[in-house]
Amino acid sequence: MIRSSELDPGFLQEVMAIPGGENLLHCWSCGTCAATCLVRRYDPSFNPRLILRKAGIGMRQEVLSSREIWLCSACDACYPRCPQEIHISEVMRAIRTIAIRDGYAPPGPSAEVDSALCSGCAVCTRACPYGAIDRVPVIVDGLERMIAQVDPNTCMACGICVAACPSGSISLEAVRNEELLTRMSAGGWLAGQSQPEGGKPRILAFVCQWSMRSDAEWAEVEAMQDDSLRVVNLPCSGRVDPALVLLALAEGADGVLVVGCGEGECHYKRGTYLGRGKVALLRSVLEQTGIGMERVRFVELEALQRGALPALIADMAAALGQPARVSG
Ligand code: SF4
Ligand code: SF4
Ligand code: SF4
Repeated sequence: MIRSSELDPGFLQEVMAIPGGENLLHCWSCGTCAATCLVRRYDPSFNPRLILRKAGIGMRQEVLSSREIWLCSACDACYPRCPQEIHISEVMRAIRTIAIRDGYAPPGPSAEVDSALCSGCAVCTRACPYGAIDRVPVIVDGLERMIAQVDPNTCMACGICVAACPSGSISLEAVRNEELLTRMSAGGWLAGQSQPEGGKPRILAFVCQWSMRSDAEWAEVEAMQDDSLRVVNLPCSGRVDPALVLLALAEGADGVLVVGCGEGECHYKRGTYLGRGKVALLRSVLEQTGIGMERVRFVELEALQRGALPALIADMAAALGQPARVSG
């Protein structure tokens, strides 16, 4: 039940006063954004239409204190479909700005920098799609040096910076390299303790969690795992770490497949671009070293390609045939 006494009629104006927030006035509450948004697959409680509606009628307290306002990743997948051409992500950002001003904070997790390891190289600041990392001065042994600092209010936990940092200074809960390695090698898979029947190639697939459009699609891929296939999900294909790919090849995988969303459909703006670029670079290195570029492949799974991953895995397996194992 909505009590008029709990509504703040000034909230609409407050949101509209922040650049981007003025779009709130034009929302028809048609629900097209909610039907488009991928976040709802993981969290059905996230409903951008409802957030905008509540904000529009002045449910200030409820909107600002809700965890859902932090879930929009500004992917803008909904924008081209909105009949009112509303950048919902900008309205969300305006609402978050007010929430931060009022002392609310995102539920996390967010990336963290180990200041003792950080060299201040700024690779992460350039890699972050959200501009969530800045460099700040710190005094060490009486000398000033710059180190990276993550703004937890802006970090969307894509993990891209974790893979980008050359000194391993950034970590993000659940996708640290150690954790990914554990998932890659669970049950002795990476060490090839059990070889596939018929000499089938052993493929490790790093799969962006957002490229799987439904739980059923993900369950189907997970069920395919056996001696010849190991699937490790990532928050984003931009999180793929070339060092882990090379490690997998060195430890006994015949091929590594990296799966990202279609270009323009990336949940984290430019994760697909980064993931594809890293794999392209890796392929050229593998070719130059005589290992062969076919050992590593990047594929984009577009929204309209639901259920296509098993065929893409089979295609890579066919291309690999019965390759000689990479060692060393
Ligand atoms: S910008 Fe992306 S995450 Fe945000 S509401 Fe739209 S589709 Fe959902
Ligand atoms: S990439 Fe790593 S070492 Fe470089 S500034 Fe960022 S956290 Fe520090
Ligand atoms: S996890 Fe993603 S959003 Fe967060 S600081 Fe790193 S690159 Fe930026």
